[in-house]
Amino acid sequence: MKFNTKTIHAGQKPEETSGAVMPPIFQTSTYAQQAPNVNKGYDYARVGNPTRTALEKLIAGLEDADECACFASGCAAMDAVLKMFRPGDHIIASNDLYGGSYRLFTKVFEPMGIDFSFIDMTSMQAVQKARTEQTKLLWIETPTNPLLRIVDIEKLTSFAREHDMLSLVDNTFASPYLQQPLNLGADMSLHSTTKYLGGHSDVIGGAVATSNSEVMEQIRFQVKTTGAVPGPMDCYLTLRGIKTLSVRVQQSVENAKKVATFLDKHAQVDRVIYPGLESHEQHEIAKKQMKDFGAMVSFSLKDDSQEKAQEFMSRTSIFTLAESLGGVESLVSHPASMTHGSIPKEVREKAGLKDSLIRLSVGIEDADDLVDDLAQAFE
Ligand SMILES: *Cc1c(COP(=O)(O)O)cnc(C)c1O
Repeated sequence: MKFNTKTIHAGQKPEETSGAVMPPIFQTSTYAQQAPNVNKGYDYARVGNPTRTALEKLIAGLEDADECACFASGCAAMDAVLKMFRPGDHIIASNDLYGGSYRLFTKVFEPMGIDFSFIDMTSMQAVQKARTEQTKLLWIETPTNPLLRIVDIEKLTSFAREHDMLSLVDNTFASPYLQQPLNLGADMSLHSTTKYLGGHSDVIGGAVATSNSEVMEQIRFQVKTTGAVPGPMDCYLTLRGIKTLSVRVQQSVENAKKVATFLDKHAQVDRVIYPGLESHEQHEIAKKQMKDFGAMVSFSLKDDSQEKAQEFMSRTSIFTLAESLGGVESLVSHPASMTHGSIPKEVREKAGLKDSLIRLSVGIEDADDLVDDLAQAFE
């Protein structure tokens, strides 16, 4: 089955008792058993729920994975993955990554004895230098957030395999429509389904897809034991959102290209970061590993101050000032004070995150209106 067909059909046969075309919302906490431990595949809803199963099969299909486990949030999915590791284990992650990942790593797992190195993962040398005998996982985020660097997934995952490390790609920014990490050698692809998969800014969720059965066994154990599971209504909303993933993401990407081109020529703009621009440092890698260049655009102002950036953002009207991304509506945010506020200023600056950096999540509105909105905010 090709990708666009999978978004509609993977994991979703009409329901058996009624023929309902859409997966029903199984709002139940438990299931009748024919005899002790004889059941129809479900015994208790922390462990499993048919609406959740439909979503898991769908995302596994999109990621070309054998299996997928869904969670109550992207952060819960990350938490479950990290609980596979033990004190003394070492994880290499990007120095430019989702702020909530950084907080989870440094405030929850570092105090428990897991070591992290935060480095520029676009540099193979930096990755080689950071690796120790204790390194168990490469945590790859690409495009990175908010600097939209592109990490070469194939190169890093083959390095991971050579040295007996696992590799994970946080695929939230690209979505499986644009990038399929397992096909590039990754062991796990992780999502905040809150973003492009859900796509309508109305539900929080997370997922981990993998074809590594040992990894999945441990993740399923976490699902059952710590129970950060999504409710059936949330699974339904995400299932519904994914139906239009291809058309939404493609339209967002077309719009993002127009927005990036406009910003690139604007006199008040210092630098536009968009993987689709030839000036982007890893443009060629993006071309190689992504179907298209994504719908996130970051830019900094010539006048590099938080005040100037905040002034700009308070003047947009179609771009809503909000955290998050990946919905049908366009959003604008200020990473230094919002999503990345929990990262210390020195760490931010070392990673190249300027005070005036503005991040756009481009939606599916008319591109002309989006460009006009930005143009008037500069004036
Ligand atoms: C939002 C996000 C997360 C966290 O997901 P939640 O659903 O908000 O818990 C993780 N990684 C990336 C890249 C994200 O954008």
